[in-house]
Amino acid sequence: MIVAIGSGGYIPARIMKHFIRKPIYTVGLSLYEDDKIVANTPRKVQWIEEVEKVLEGKSVLLIDETDDTRTTLSYCVAELLKNNLKELTVMVLHAKDKEKRANFPEGIDNYLIAEKIPDVWICYPWEASDIIAHDQEVAKQNARIGAEAK
Ligand code: 5GP
Repeated sequence: MIVAIGSGGYIPARIMKHFIRKPIYTVGLSLYEDDKIVANTPRKVQWIEEVEKVLEGKSVLLIDETDDTRTTLSYCVAELLKNNLKELTVMVLHAKDKEKRANFPEGIDNYLIAEKIPDVWICYPWEASDIIAHDQEVAKQNARIGAEAK
């Protein structure tokens, strides 16, 4: 089964469902407000009904968009591992190359990163209210990263 961390993991999870064809469960964890970290421990805004034991014995693919400080992912992994899973794979689109505020607990079978990037704020296409403005913003960011790398 796929577990998407909302809301950033929803669209990547939906794309992965096209290939994996397994159900998506969603969890909601809140750490940021207005792009600022507001707590050290994420708040469970939504979670899988644990009394129904839907996670037990399952191979789980946990998906989020970004591994930034790793606070959200490591908290989520620790919570999922309480459910006697068969296997746990974590997948992110982007992992930022920076010092992490939390480490993954023991027990992850695979960690898949689509792309490693420097410590910049990413504006995903699904956050854009205007795709042209989004593309212009991406071009500006890429130019800045390129200039910093020189
Ligand atoms: P972490 O707990 O690793 O610091 O943050 C994870 C969450 O913060 C991700 O699920 C993502 O929603 C959000 N986040 C972190 N960095 C970025 C970023 O650069 N762009 C966007 N759009 N969201 C981010």
